[in-house]
Amino acid sequence: MADALSIARDLVRCPSVTPADAGALGVIESILKGAGFEVHRVMFSEAGTADIDNLYARIGNTAPHITFAGHTDVVPPGDETAWSHGAFSGDVSDGFLYGRGAVDMKGGIACSVAAALQYLAAHGGKPRQDGAGSISFLITGDEEDIAVNGTIKGVASLSIVRPTNAVIPKRMACGGASMAMRTL
Ligand SMILES: [Zn+2]
Repeated sequence: MADALSIARDLVRCPSVTPADAGALGVIESILKGAGFEVHRVMFSEAGTADIDNLYARIGNTAPHITFAGHTDVVPPGDETAWSHGAFSGDVSDGFLYGRGAVDMKGGIACSVAAALQYLAAHGGKPRQDGAGSISFLITGDEEDIAVNGTIKGVASLSIVRPTNAVIPKRMACGGASMAMRTL
């Protein structure tokens, strides 16, 4: 089973500086498909902006419906020679995962995905034992820059989303730094 750290490392190793996806959404897509989620990849466009890849994945069709919202794009690494570990290395050292987006917010997404998968594994692969309920992920590649082809359009156009609860794991499991996530 995919654990939070391995998912986070796979995501950090994708140099997904906005607007590039660099394979980041594919990492999430393959994991969630394997757990039985129906996965949609949606490209949003707007004049004068770069096309952006987005992902909506859901398991279950009824309420209650909890959505995990997040983004896989990151800001540019700047001077990479100034990094103690490579900006897209995904190195783990002294209990910390290093790399751009380790905290904001590939680490949070990884924790959410791992938690959802663990929950489903413990509940017969279903959101609820009685067959009701839904779990979904709404993940965009457009948050760190101008953020016009991402979550706002996703919520507006995907009327099927309509979550009853939403979680944005922006600072989950972080030690306060923006470039390293505690792995313990
Ligand atoms: Zn962010």
